[in-house]
Parts: sequence; structure tokens; C-alpha cells
Amino acid sequence: MTTPQSWEARADEYSLYGFTDLPSVHKRGAVVLTHGEGPYIVDVNGNRYLDANSGLWNMVAGFDHKGLAEAAKAQYDRFPGYHAFFGRMSDQTVMLSEKLIEVSPFARGKVFYTNSGSEANDTMVKMLWFMHASEGNPQKRKILTRWNAYHGVTAVSASMTGKPYNEVFGLPLPGFIHLTCPHYWRYGEEGETEEQFTARLARELDETIEREGADTIAGFFAEPVQGAGGVIPPSAGYFQAIMPVLKKHGIPMIADEVITGFGRTGNTWGSQTYEFEPDAIISSKNLTAGLFPMGAVILGPELTDRLQAAIDRIEEFPHGFTASGHPVGCAVALKAIDVVMNEGLAQNVIDLAPRFEEGLRQLARNPNIGEYRGVGFMWALEAVRDKATKTPFEGHLSVSERIANTCTDMGLICRPLGQSIVLCPPFILTPAQMDEMFEKLDKALGKVF
Ligand code: PLP
Repeated sequence: MTTPQSWEARADEYSLYGFTDLPSVHKRGAVVLTHGEGPYIVDVNGNRYLDANSGLWNMVAGFDHKGLAEAAKAQYDRFPGYHAFFGRMSDQTVMLSEKLIEVSPFARGKVFYTNSGSEANDTMVKMLWFMHASEGNPQKRKILTRWNAYHGVTAVSASMTGKPYNEVFGLPLPGFIHLTCPHYWRYGEEGETEEQFTARLARELDETIEREGADTIAGFFAEPVQGAGGVIPPSAGYFQAIMPVLKKHGIPMIADEVITGFGRTGNTWGSQTYEFEPDAIISSKNLTAGLFPMGAVILGPELTDRLQAAIDRIEEFPHGFTASGHPVGCAVALKAIDVVMNEGLAQNVIDLAPRFEEGLRQLARNPNIGEYRGVGFMWALEAVRDKATKTPFEGHLSVSERIANTCTDMGLICRPLGQSIVLCPPFILTPAQMDEMFEKLDKALGKVF
């Protein structure tokens, strides 16, 4: 066996890419990275890219935040590893749980740790199944989510995800029901107002619950803003319309805040931005500002009490991961929450969001940009072949992929998602760096269209 020489060839030879357009990467070669500087990443050839993706939404404090790295190192030096089982738990885990309840919308609650957002969603589903069964309702197992939702890649969280690509795995599993995506611009019917659209989706939820039987449904999961679906904020009044329906049928509402948590929409939680109170929150990504793989299920008071009662009945919750509540992750999360919420990062999102929107409004004057949408520091531009009819482009390599590739060539990382280009930069972005992002994107649109 001969070892290929270039980094790009070595990447190709020995590593499998996930979620990657392979013809495109084979043609261009992988970008192999060595380090980062603020919101920039640098490759083995010395090329510098402004990362308007924040890694994968998560590197909100940039790539070289000293305080975060120091918090990790200090905890590695002090006590590098423990789980949160068998009656033992690190002091960092105790402190993080207290902190998460303090910053949560809940007056009281409890936290369970995982290594990722997918596992946190899986864990929440298992908690609901366990709780309902313990309460004498073992048939309460169906999970309601929406089309275009992204909840992860494990068999359960991928079943919750509303993306056709999961069909190659024979997913979703039975009992995972997907409702209409609340994207008025795309799914609103001819002549339907946004209010009518929202009311139709609330009706659809009500009818689905009636049809399936509330006594068969375990819970409803939703991202406050759909992220990997292409940044889809809810239609006007969406959560206000669906929450009473869920309450009426006694169905727990779980907010998947893996992306929207800790400042991405301007507030601590996306559910605050959209003014609803879920029964539990799923957190990950920003939780550690991307420096440690970690997820958390944060239960509100009612689910805490019901789950605790179920656990008390068998005197154990038989679930957990080797690194659940890892003390280094917890130390980093404590620091990250402080940095994001108290060192001006979330404030920067609030301050620069109007500039972000204005920049996109200008770009959306392009005849091939059908819509711009978003909130805080998560936005998307959607490409269309025909603006009036909203007709998408066709072909294997989507136009958004071509725009993103052109941006990469110019030193800007942005994410093609379906027909959309997604921009979700780190919260440390300066106005000048934001202008750089728009200038490069403008040039890329000019080259592609
Ligand atoms: N939920 C949401 C809303 C996400 O955006 C993601 C990942 O992008 C996940 C869950 C899954 O998280 P992970 O990739 O850490 O498993």
C-alpha cells in the first residue's frame, strides 16, 4: 500500500465523509484545517477562511478563545474524568446542573447529560416512553415532529428528523409522525394569509392527535427555528397556536434548542424569542461553545416530578453514557455560558442582527434570490430559478452548493442546505467581518448567476 502524499489525498484515502457532496469534494479536494483565529479557520496550505458556519453552528466564541481553553486545561489538570452514575458525580457536574436550571425558563427542574444533541433527543424519547409506561400508559409511544426538522442521526433522532435522505436507512421507524413545516413562504397555499396558514397547521396538529389518539402519543418535539432545514423561523403566531392544542391533549412539548440555545437568536433560548414555555429543553452545541462534545436534557417542573416518580417506582433510571456529565465538559460549559451571556457575545448578536438583516435584504435584490429569512445570528438566502413562481433550480449539484464552493474559493465558509445558503457565524463577529462576509457572498452570487 502506498501512502498518498498530499493532505487532501490522505483525507480521501483513509476517512469517510459524512454529509458531503462527494463528486464536488473529489473534484476540489478536502480542505484540511490546522488552526483557527477568532472567526477564521486556516488550512494546511495557509489559506484563511471566514467561517460563517461557526464550525457546525457551535463555535460561537470563535476558534481560539483563551478562557475556554484554559477552563478545559484547568479541569483536565484537576480531575480529568468521571461519569454521573452509581451515586458519584463530579463537583463540576453539580455546578453545571444548578447553572442550567438557573438560566432555564423553569422555576425548578433537573438535568441529564449526553455527548451530543442526537443522544439528548434519544434520551428524552426514552424518558417519555419510560414515564408514560410507568404511569400505566405503555401505548403512549408515538412521537410528533415536523417535516424539515433536524433532530440528529441516531436511529430515533433520525426518525424524528423530517428529511427524505433518511429513507436510505429505512427510516423513520414506525410511530414517528411528521407534520407540516411552518414555512409560510414555501408552503403557504395560494391566497392563504400567514395567519390562515398558522391556523391550518394548528388544525392539522389537532386533527392528527384526534386521528392517532392522544393516548398513543408520547410527545411533540420542535426546534424554535428549524436550523438544518435551512433556517426556518416559525410562521407568525405558530407556537401560540400549537401550544394550547398540545396542552388540551396533555402532550409534552419538547423544545430542541441544540442550535437556538445560548444566544443564537439573541435570547438565552429560542423559546424566549418566540414566547412559549416548553416542558423540556434539549441543549448541545453552544452549551460548550463547541469545545467539548456534550448534550443535555433540561426538564421543567412537571416532567421532573413525573419522571422522578417513575424512577422512584423502580428505584433506578437505567440509562446513561460513559462520559455523561464529564467534568471537563461541565467546566467548559460553565465557562462558555459565562462568556456568551456575560462577556458581550449574546449582546453582539442583538446589536448586529439588524446589520445582518440589512446585508441580506440587499443581497436578496438579486433576481435569483427568492427569500431571505432568519433571526439573531442564523439566517438563510434561498435561491430560485424564478422569483415570481418560487421555482427552484434543478440538477445534481445544487446552485447553493455552487455558491458555497465559490465562496470557499474566496475565503468564506457558508453552508448549502437544499436550495438555501445558510449563514450562522460565531457571535464574536465584528461589523467589518460581517461586511467581509457580505462582500464575498455578493461576488459569489455574481459569479454563479
Ligand atoms: N438537534 C438539532 C436542532 C440540531 O441542529 C442537531 C445538529 O445539528 C442535533 C439535534 C444533533 O446534534 P448532534 O450532531 O450533536 O448529535
